[in-house]
Amino acid sequence: MKNKRILSWIMTMGIVIAGMEVCAGCKKGEVIVPDSTRFDVDFNAMDTYMTLTAYGKNAESGLEKAKTRIQEVEGIFSVTDENSDIYKINHRETEQIAISDEVMNVLGEALTISERTSGNFDISIYPVLREWGFTTGEYQVPEESVLQELLQKVDYTKISVDSDEKTVTLADGMEVDFGAIAKGYSGDMAVAALKEAEVTSALLNLGGNIQALGEKPDGSSWNVAIKDPVFTSEYMGVLSVKDKAVITSGGYERYFEDRDGNTWSHIIDPSTGYSADSGTMSITIVGTSGMEADALSTAMYVSGIEKASEYWKTYGGFDMVIITKEEEVYVTEGIKEDFTLMGNYKDKQVHIIEK
Ligand code: ADP
Ligand code: MG
Repeated sequence: MKNKRILSWIMTMGIVIAGMEVCAGCKKGEVIVPDSTRFDVDFNAMDTYMTLTAYGKNAESGLEKAKTRIQEVEGIFSVTDENSDIYKINHRETEQIAISDEVMNVLGEALTISERTSGNFDISIYPVLREWGFTTGEYQVPEESVLQELLQKVDYTKISVDSDEKTVTLADGMEVDFGAIAKGYSGDMAVAALKEAEVTSALLNLGGNIQALGEKPDGSSWNVAIKDPVFTSEYMGVLSVKDKAVITSGGYERYFEDRDGNTWSHIIDPSTGYSADSGTMSITIVGTSGMEADALSTAMYVSGIEKASEYWKTYGGFDMVIITKEEEVYVTEGIKEDFTLMGNYKDKQVHIIEK
């Protein structure tokens, strides 16, 4: 009995002493969470499945805040939710519509990328996207004449923003869709929420859009794998990143097959009204802004490798991994040391795109 009490006393002392050592200088009552303590949340949002992982202090509460923020962004940018800001733009009763700073910010980025790609990226592609059935899942190959008619309404130059008045004006019949950019933006907002909660290490998977906050708890980089665009349950390479968004667009992601066996993807070339077919199977963007990386992945996929390389040389600030239809791999020089081939691509040569 006595021995037991002594043992429990020693154990208590041991814990207290250990605690005091770790807690030297910290506030009274503060709970010490080892850096490696991991929390996860997963949920459906923005038409996809998301898994958020964070480590260390405030990880659990930070993740809840990040999740809430993503749901908020979803509520703002949804095309179908009648209460969303975008729904209000598309179902406008007046020519000029008041918009929030948040919508203004994302719209501004979208229009910049539209200008820089001469309209290969165009959020007013929505009427065409709907005709193909990509908004409902009731797929069809539209008549050429119908596409031509709808393309009359697709023109980002007819979207004008008044940043002083905080309004947007669209030409008659135009509709917009932020499907190529809002998810990336929500990743930025989730990271901001985590940072605000003083979380320093997290990896967010927003339906394949990866957003890394800081580094792994052991101080090493995160390893982010890129899908093999043919055998999509396998991976073709891995990127080592810290504090970056890694976002891929590919024709294999969402598509349908018509009666003749042709496949049609949900990324539309606004110059034709048909699925983009510029010679690439997938383009991955690595950058510091999730919003920009998301928009660019779509924009560069439509543009193709030549124009994407030109864009990168002109504007920079991001890196790319491009897989062509011939299964050739191109990587911009900024990440050449951080990229490793794997799987079916293991023995291939990586072509470096240089400035
Ligand atoms: P995912 O959403 O599967 O990750 P993307 O980021 O490439 O893929 O976005 C595809 C979405 O972008 C489409 O579902 C559609 O809403 C929108 N979209 C399609 N083509 C274009 C385009 N040329 N410009 C801007 N947005 C587009
Ligand atoms: Mg995108």
